Amino acid sequence: MDEIVIRTAGKNQVVNITEEVQRIVEKEMKRKEMKEGICLVYVPHATAALTINENWDPSVCDDFMAALAELIPKGKWRHDKVDGNGDAHVKAAIIGPSVTIPIKDGRLLLGTWQGIMLCEFDGPRERNVIVVCR
Ligand code: ZN
Repeated sequence: MDEIVIRTAGKNQVVNITEEVQRIVEKEMKRKEMKEGICLVYVPHATAALTINENWDPSVCDDFMAALAELIPKGKWRHDKVDGNGDAHVKAAIIGPSVTIPIKDGRLLLGTWQGIMLCEFDGPRERNVIVVCR
């Protein structure tokens, strides 16, 4: 099991972590002398999430965050009375804390335009990303 630590910079932010995960997968698969497997990427956080989407044109991630902000507005949730981040919890729950990617030829089997995105909904914070290859 490996871990990546990401320090996010904004309240809401998308961070492309594909290269960091790819590096771990290549190292782990070489060490295990395996070519095929499964990579699980997971965030142990309640206000951050992981998704896979286009990593080339940054407007895709901007649109994704804008759509979530529109669907899940700030300031109308019961949990806001506790620590003011009800919307962040709802967004994180909908997007989910993990992604699973097949490994082929010792590398992540991602489409040309796909990247692994860490979604920050209540930053800036330090986020831990767990990577497991089997
Ligand atoms: Zn909270």
